[in-house]
Amino acid sequence: MTKKAIFPGSFDPFTLGHKFVVDQALHVFDKLIIAVGINSEKRGLLTIENRVKLIRDIYSDDPRIEVKTFDGLTADFCRKEGVQIILRGLRNSVDFEYERNIAQVNQTLYSKLQTILIFTPAKYVAISSSVIRELVSLGADPSALMPKNIDIKNYL
Ligand code: ADP
Repeated sequence: MTKKAIFPGSFDPFTLGHKFVVDQALHVFDKLIIAVGINSEKRGLLTIENRVKLIRDIYSDDPRIEVKTFDGLTADFCRKEGVQIILRGLRNSVDFEYERNIAQVNQTLYSKLQTILIFTPAKYVAISSSVIRELVSLGADPSALMPKNIDIKNYL
C-alpha cells in the first residue's frame, strides 16, 4: 500500500525549513502532496500560482511529490484526496502549541486524520517565510534561506 501524506501550508515562499521537513518525510512516505492553502483575506508576497511554480521547480525531478492548491478546511482537502496523514514542521514551543490545537481540531473534523510533526535542526529554526518576505521588502537577497537554485526574483 502506498504511504501518502499531505504537507499543507502557506509557503509564501517555500523555504529551506520546509524543504527539510519534506526531505525527512520522504524517508517515511512514498508520496507527498504539498498543498498550498488559498487564503483570500491574506495578500501575500507571491501569488498562489507562483508559490506552486516555485515548489514544482524544486521538485521537478521527483515523482513522489505533487503540488496542489486548496481552499477551505485542510481536513476536507485530506478527505477529498483520501489521505489521513498531515505533515507539519516544528521549530519551537510556540509552533508546538499552535500545531497541537490545529491537530486536535482537524481530528475532531475528521477522526481518521493524524498529524505527524517533524522537528527542525537548530540551523533552520530561524528560517521562516516571514523573514524572507521581510528581506525582500528591504531589497535584500534571501537566497541563503531558500532551496538552492531558486531566485525569488523569478517568482515575484
Ligand atoms: P502556515 O501558514 O500554515 O503556518 P507555513 O508555510 O508558514 O504555513 O508553514 C508550513 C509548515 O512548515 C508549518 O508546520 C510550519 O511550522 C513549518 N515550518 C515553517 N518553517 C519551518 C522551519 N524553518 N523548520 C521546520 N518547520 C517549519
